[in-house]
Amino acid sequence: MLSIYNTLTKRIEEIRPIKPDTVTMYTCGPTVYRDAHIGNLRTYMMADWIRRVIQVYGYEVYHIKNITDVGHMRQELVEAGGDKVIMAALAEGRTVEDITQYYASLFHRDEARLNILPAHVYPWATEHIPEMVSMVETLMGNEFAYEQGGNIYFDVARFTDYGKLSRNTGADLLEGVRAEADPLKRDPRDFTLWKAAEAGRDYKWDSPWGDGFPGWHIECSAMARKYLGEEFDIHTGGVDNIFPHHEDEIAQSEATFGKRHVNYWVHAQHLLADGAKMAKSSGNVFLIEELISRGFDPLSFRYLCMTVRYRHRMNFTFNSLRAAERALTNLRNRVWVWKNQAGESGPLDEVAKWRQQFWDRVENDLDIPGALALTWDMARSELPSGDKLALLLEFDKIFGLDLDQVPATYDLPDIVGTVVGERTSLRQQADYQNADVLRANVLSEGFMLEDTASASRIRPKTNLERQGELWAAVSSSREVESFLDRPSEYDFTYILNAYSHPLDVQRCVTSMLRYPGGHNNEIIVIDNGSTDGTAEWLEEFKAAHDSVRVIHCDHNVGDAAGKNIGIKQSLGKNIIILDGSAEVVGEILDTIHERLADDTVGIFGPFGLTTDDLQHFHEEVDEGDADAMQAYCMAFRRERVSEVGLMRECFRFYRNLDIDYCFQFKDKGYRVVADASLPLVRHEHRLWTELDENQRDELSRKNFGRFLRRWGNRPDLLITAGGRGVGSSFFHH
Ligand code: AMP
Ligand code: ZN
Repeated sequence: MLSIYNTLTKRIEEIRPIKPDTVTMYTCGPTVYRDAHIGNLRTYMMADWIRRVIQVYGYEVYHIKNITDVGHMRQELVEAGGDKVIMAALAEGRTVEDITQYYASLFHRDEARLNILPAHVYPWATEHIPEMVSMVETLMGNEFAYEQGGNIYFDVARFTDYGKLSRNTGADLLEGVRAEADPLKRDPRDFTLWKAAEAGRDYKWDSPWGDGFPGWHIECSAMARKYLGEEFDIHTGGVDNIFPHHEDEIAQSEATFGKRHVNYWVHAQHLLADGAKMAKSSGNVFLIEELISRGFDPLSFRYLCMTVRYRHRMNFTFNSLRAAERALTNLRNRVWVWKNQAGESGPLDEVAKWRQQFWDRVENDLDIPGALALTWDMARSELPSGDKLALLLEFDKIFGLDLDQVPATYDLPDIVGTVVGERTSLRQQADYQNADVLRANVLSEGFMLEDTASASRIRPKTNLERQGELWAAVSSSREVESFLDRPSEYDFTYILNAYSHPLDVQRCVTSMLRYPGGHNNEIIVIDNGSTDGTAEWLEEFKAAHDSVRVIHCDHNVGDAAGKNIGIKQSLGKNIIILDGSAEVVGEILDTIHERLADDTVGIFGPFGLTTDDLQHFHEEVDEGDADAMQAYCMAFRRERVSEVGLMRECFRFYRNLDIDYCFQFKDKGYRVVADASLPLVRHEHRLWTELDENQRDELSRKNFGRFLRRWGNRPDLLITAGGRGVGSSFFHH
């Protein structure tokens, strides 16, 4: 039987089910007022592997996965002033139910795309309010809960086992809960079971304590009790669920039913993207839908997750996903080849040996990466192909990669079939030149040709193989060659770090071309991971204009990295970085050329900022020295970059990166100079306006912190001290 790391006991333990033939399992499911991202799905995939393994032992796994819907109390939304998506939907007349149904259906679709076996029941939180109320009543009755101002709190002091899951006790615990100090609680560790509805609240339910709504944790206790009983075998979630969610779930359930709640608590470590926590506004939250629109097979993500142990943090990058897709394609190819070979088999004990080794790994704390590595050893071994095929399909009952769906023959257009036949005979005659011509023809028809010693095989290209031909793409600025030490070939390099919003990109780029002013210019556009047609438009535009170059990124690499790509590739004497919201409306190049000819000037542009205290930056420079230049338009000499450096790539979001980069120039003794009369206009800045208030504050704060940590003790770099009026602060420029 499977052994797995139990967060409760901190040991790897063999699973011993409570019932003889059914294993009961509860998985904390999705919140359906937003998308489930690939990190969430990694956690559900872990539960899926656990379930598949246990099923192979002949047990039934009765699996429950809850749906946390809006009406319910993950109050973060309402407290945060509402989610933009939801508010917009409500304003359009859609109901909260429409919204939760919509996100739930996307979630089910993505689970299916990843071959995650559906749970037996997906209970919705708002459909289980009476069960939650009944538990709270029991807790009031046995005095594990108390009422204060219409709210019901769990009395943590009375539950002596509190902290046994997270080991989060004493000082650590207080540290964790301090932020939400609620004066009604007797003890800051106490948590809410039921909350009185405030005036005007739409989503509320009747209870013995008046209208209100349940706390978040109670939903899982109540639904687990309803579907799995007072005690059950396995409970899964992500590591962020351990505290407080699961700790509180144990307290409520064990205090209500007087018995151990769950025997095995299993938690998946988080998925990072590009080495950082995924956050919507840093542009590194990825959805399965998005992987598909970038040409990937969703099962490549499943394969990728198989390469990292569930208990380890996993860093998602598009490079690793591409490698996973190649490996999966390769595995499918082998199935196809083996299916076409005679189904020979070898000695039975050889097969049994591979099988045993596979299960040794799987059983050992779900070592799927080990099992996968072993599978490759087996595939490359001397075992007869019939045995390989049988073993692989057997292993795939755990992996879940649909390898049994690989056809023995693909449907090929007649012409392609004929060509392959001709090519095989050309190769037999050693006429490789003509064989290669035929090969190129087949490739251009959308098929892959693979030669073996005896014959040529052909299969349709994958989406990724087809898309890969459209244009090359980079995954990071490191992959881009630097031309900074080469002599200049142009007077100016215009750089646009383009995000989605094709109309803005078009307006900005065409305006760059409109006023060449007799100079020799190049334009570099970084397509920073668009999937909305921006990339295609840029390709067409490039084809029509010799001076335009486009560098595609296979995802949003971050603002600083995008700009650095442009800077590294530039060959102009002067560099002008424009933002997509900016438009050139007159001759600007002569002025920029003149200003930058002054050796004391580092950065020049129209939208200068000043500050007295490094805390608040004001937009009040019409002409002359400034403390920083806003990113809408920033010009500097290319040769300066070798001295001041590239932009700092920890700035994934644009905000305050401009200020930070200006300080790099100031630190080297250069001035930042503004001239507001430069003919340039600013349009709606969508990267900013599309964010909601909370995202703006969070991102601004984080980037401002980055700036301050580096430059906060350098008031000596400011142009002047004292006596400036109040303009707009850095939060609202
Ligand atoms: P939520 O929709 O926020 O309740 O999250 C659903 C599940 O995904 C929970 O089990 C979380 O612990 C888990 N989860 C959240 N963020 C990540 C992440 N970055 N990587 C892996 N799992 C996550
Ligand atoms: Zn839960």
